[in-house]
Amino acid sequence: MALTGDTPARERRPRSPRGRGRVVAEVLAEERPVVPVPLDHRNEFELLAATILSAQCTDVMVNSVTPALFDRYPTPAALAAADPDELEAIIRPTGFFRSKARSLIGMATAVEQRFGGQVPSTMEDLVTLPGVGRKTASVLLGHWFDTPAIAVDTHVLRLSKRLGLTDSDDPVQVEADLKKVWPRDMWADTGLRLIMHGRQVCTARRPKCDGCPLWNACVSRGTF
Ligand code: SF4
Repeated sequence: MALTGDTPARERRPRSPRGRGRVVAEVLAEERPVVPVPLDHRNEFELLAATILSAQCTDVMVNSVTPALFDRYPTPAALAAADPDELEAIIRPTGFFRSKARSLIGMATAVEQRFGGQVPSTMEDLVTLPGVGRKTASVLLGHWFDTPAIAVDTHVLRLSKRLGLTDSDDPVQVEADLKKVWPRDMWADTGLRLIMHGRQVCTARRPKCDGCPLWNACVSRGTF
């Protein structure tokens, strides 16, 4: 159902960032009603570890190593006590495996020592964990803790500007701008939908403007 008026969302041509934001959120929701997190996980600890591993790596590759990772280290306590060489061997296919191993052990140690073995549930606490920035924290908040949040990755950065939802290149500012123009209860899923749209349609080098469902709302349509 359209958020406003009788004109279907994808036919509207909003003139303000707020108007564009609502149309983008609505059209993407029509396109992809269900957006499961593409990283396999069974609990918040696994989602956090998988998200750390996903830096500079495909979801498919992360999902190929996490079964062995979670089997070997099923809890923060187990991961905190991991032998770095053994851990590196498991996560090596995801790239940057030495720094990711340091982040995983550091994250797990901090969860154990400072949060009683429970992954914290606020942005303020999550970003204190090694290897966890606002993007990773937002994934946890939005997709596990049911707290409205927007994870700004490279696709969200690129598309937000192309769509005229922000004029900034700074992830923190883009996150703030998106929070002004997307309905709050749609923040997390719209962010995930925008990532999918960026991977499949509005790609970095060759956006497929012809046939793009966001054509009417997009200030960059047909300029590539
Ligand atoms: S119209 Fe083109 S530039 Fe705009 S979102 Fe669609 S693919 Fe990207």
